[in-house]
Amino acid sequence: MTSVLPHKPDILRTLMQASMDSILMTGDNGHIVALSDSAERLFGYAQADVMLRPLTEIITLPSTNGDPQSLAHYMETDDGPALNRRIEVTGIHRSGTRFPAEMTIIPTEVDEQPVFLTFIRDISERKGFERVIRRTSVRFQKLITSLQGGVLVEDETRHIVLVNHAFCDMFNIPVPARSLYASHSNTTMESSKSLFANPAGFIQRVDEILKSEQTVTEETLLLADGRVFSRDYVPVFHDEDHIGHLWHYRDITESYQSQRRWRRMYRFEAVNKEINSLFLQLADVDDALNRTLAITGQLMDVSRVYAFRFRENERILDNTHEWCAPGVTSEMEHLQGLPFDSMLPSFFPLIAEQDYIAPRHITDLPEDLHGVLEAQGIQTVLWMPFFLNERIEGFIGYDEVRAPREWLPEEITMARIIAENYARALERVQADRLLIEARDEAIHTAQLRAQFVANMSHEIRTPMTGIMGMQELLLETDLNDLQTEFASEALKSSKRLLTIINDILDFSKLEAGQVILESTPIDLRAIATEVRMTLMPQLKAKPVDILLDVAPDVPYRVHGDATRIRQVLMNLAGNAVKFTHNGNVTLAMRVAHTTERNVHIRFAVNDTGIGITEDNLTRIFDSFVQADGSTTRKYGGSGLGLSISKQLVELMGGTLAATSEHGTGSTFTFTLRLPIARADSTMDHDPARFSDISVLLIDRNRTARYVLAQQLEGWGATVTQVSSLEYIPAGTTYDIILHRYPDPTTSSATLEQIGRHVACIVSDRTQPPPDVVALRQPVDQSTLYNLLIQATQTHTNTTEATAPPPQNPIGHILVADDYPINIHLVRRALAQMHVHIDFVENGQQAIEAIQNTHYDLILMDIHMPIMDGVAATQHIRAADAPFCDVPILALTASVMRDEQDRYMAAGMNDVISKPFSVSGLRKVVQHWLEQPPTTD
Ligand code: ADP
Repeated sequence: MTSVLPHKPDILRTLMQASMDSILMTGDNGHIVALSDSAERLFGYAQADVMLRPLTEIITLPSTNGDPQSLAHYMETDDGPALNRRIEVTGIHRSGTRFPAEMTIIPTEVDEQPVFLTFIRDISERKGFERVIRRTSVRFQKLITSLQGGVLVEDETRHIVLVNHAFCDMFNIPVPARSLYASHSNTTMESSKSLFANPAGFIQRVDEILKSEQTVTEETLLLADGRVFSRDYVPVFHDEDHIGHLWHYRDITESYQSQRRWRRMYRFEAVNKEINSLFLQLADVDDALNRTLAITGQLMDVSRVYAFRFRENERILDNTHEWCAPGVTSEMEHLQGLPFDSMLPSFFPLIAEQDYIAPRHITDLPEDLHGVLEAQGIQTVLWMPFFLNERIEGFIGYDEVRAPREWLPEEITMARIIAENYARALERVQADRLLIEARDEAIHTAQLRAQFVANMSHEIRTPMTGIMGMQELLLETDLNDLQTEFASEALKSSKRLLTIINDILDFSKLEAGQVILESTPIDLRAIATEVRMTLMPQLKAKPVDILLDVAPDVPYRVHGDATRIRQVLMNLAGNAVKFTHNGNVTLAMRVAHTTERNVHIRFAVNDTGIGITEDNLTRIFDSFVQADGSTTRKYGGSGLGLSISKQLVELMGGTLAATSEHGTGSTFTFTLRLPIARADSTMDHDPARFSDISVLLIDRNRTARYVLAQQLEGWGATVTQVSSLEYIPAGTTYDIILHRYPDPTTSSATLEQIGRHVACIVSDRTQPPPDVVALRQPVDQSTLYNLLIQATQTHTNTTEATAPPPQNPIGHILVADDYPINIHLVRRALAQMHVHIDFVENGQQAIEAIQNTHYDLILMDIHMPIMDGVAATQHIRAADAPFCDVPILALTASVMRDEQDRYMAAGMNDVISKPFSVSGLRKVVQHWLEQPPTTD
């Protein structure tokens, strides 16, 4: 550094040299007297260039009111002159470029001359930074204020530092954003909180967030008007000092709703399926609807869901079903029998116009609807009508009591699906009801028909009784051969006619569902034997045998309906006999399966007859169908037998099936499940039980022998079968001899020599020989069993095996019947029984008759003039007299079970069905006369 001032002390010069700052020294007059080296560099001048030139040539000073030449006044402040005052100036480089600079002035003295040292610092770099910062800040502010979301920046005391328009818009603040600066946030918050669905919750949450000083992102806020905001919060820190808060709110109503909607759409899909299946699966439609209302109420988040139905032709409306959200009161009770026309006249026009009613708010509805809904505090409704047979039947409604609501398309779809489902379910119920009505009517018609058939059968059977009875009696009189032939042909035709009548009657009863099965202990072997015996006469001269093939393990006693099983077997075997010209008809029974309680028996009727073609096999079970037209002429029959058999088998729980080969033969099979009779235990199949008993069977009929032998051998007895006595080796003796009576080749004397117990087998129509044990054909299982038991009890009186034949009782019988032929028939049938018979013509006369006479038995016709049999019986039973217990047997042509039950209920003891056979009548009468008297 060079100096123009030779006296300048060294210390000052050294200081100027050492300073990093550029230093200029001026004289009191403001002229430059010295430059430091760095000042020379800063301004681009050598000291000599500017020596004694005014300072203002290289520095532009801010103008002041004082003397611009003197730097002293630049040091003036309000508190007097300050040494460290910094003044911003502009430096002028030698090149002419200007630069910002900072100047500090220090007054001093050199050689007692006042001088100023001015320290100059180039601040262009700092100025540049400041400018950048300023610009950035402005930009940042602009950015924030122009942001879509609402931004609020507060200082640590929650005074507003920055807020944008969007914020004011979102929070409904009606003043310009700028005017909020420096105000306290609490004021704004208080006035805005009511915007939120939960105002208290909003304030509480803000406090919570402020306390936690933690960043919060994307918090969802629900507004009362349905808008949804998302909130971010950022605490602002500076060097670990909490200096403020930044709040950012965004309106996400749209995305929130669309997201919710999508989620709900998925759920709707699932619920729709659920509802569909509810209505299909539940038998109870009310239950299905109630469940559906609850499901959709929750899903759609409504206050109430309900159904209304019209009655009386759309004039009156009832609330039939309802679901309420928790906290919502039920209205159903008050909403019954509403006068619809006057209450909601605009309902139908509205429905006609837009299918359903779904306003955003009830104010969008016509006055009448609006009024009714407003009275219930409802904000909006969705009403979806449902139609039955094209006619409006009611509607399903959804209430919202909290706020107006835009009903979404999927909500409307769901409402429609429910209405549709409900209507279809109601239709199904209606159809079911009609079906039930139709069924009831059909049953009623069938009952009428059955009644008609029963009546008809009575009308037919009564004269049939007369015809057949007279023919039987006629055959018992002395007739010449021709007369006998005529009479027996007439009897045969009558029997055939009766079979056909029975078939038709059975068929009608089955059709009307009137056949009721019985379950009593039965003997299947006896039934099979009976069938065989009944059919044997029909074989006549045909080289055909009827064989019984009953497996030994078939139980002796089972429970079942003997009549119906016999009827089916008789029918199948009857057909087999009819259509077989040589070979065999076999009736077989096998155990298919046994359980502890039941046995499954497979019945098969097989023949070697003409067979049935494949085509016909499928048809023969139909009613009135015969395999081919020619059958009727050649074989007779009504075409009902198989149809009846099939229905009976089905009624008993089986299936009737047929296989056949045309020209070779046919097999009909069915399997029945029959409970094993426990009482059978005494007759249990025990092969060893009678192993020491020997039996001799004498019968010309091979099959009859075979059947009996099988039964006896089943119990272990040793059986010798012969067709005649002459085949017995001399000297052989037997425990039991069973012989067919009558048989000219045997005499009881001979038999008694070779057998300890002798019993004869007699057919139905044969009078047994006196003093001999007689077994009636078909032989009953238990009788046969008894015989074996007797034989094991050594050397007892042979006749004790069974009771001795009963003496013909002498009794006094009253017959009440108005049909002369019947009276005649009964008289003749009972003539040989040594009974005394009185006849009356109606019930009234019967009552009178028993007042004076003691009767042992009354035979009471049902249909009589003046007083019928049932009324008379009731009268007799009700009387408090000694005669009131007299056995009364109904004589009736009705075979309807409930009719017969009615007679028994009236107090009758038994029923004799017309037509009855002479012998059948005798048997029943004998049975009842043998009963010990029940009264004194
Ligand atoms: P129908 O009273 O006329 O015999 P069914 O219903 O008992 O009536 O039988 C119907 C038809 O089935 C018979 O007419 C006959 O053509 C045929 N059918 C039944 N059983 C046999 C059989 N065992 N062999 C050959 N044809 C049979």
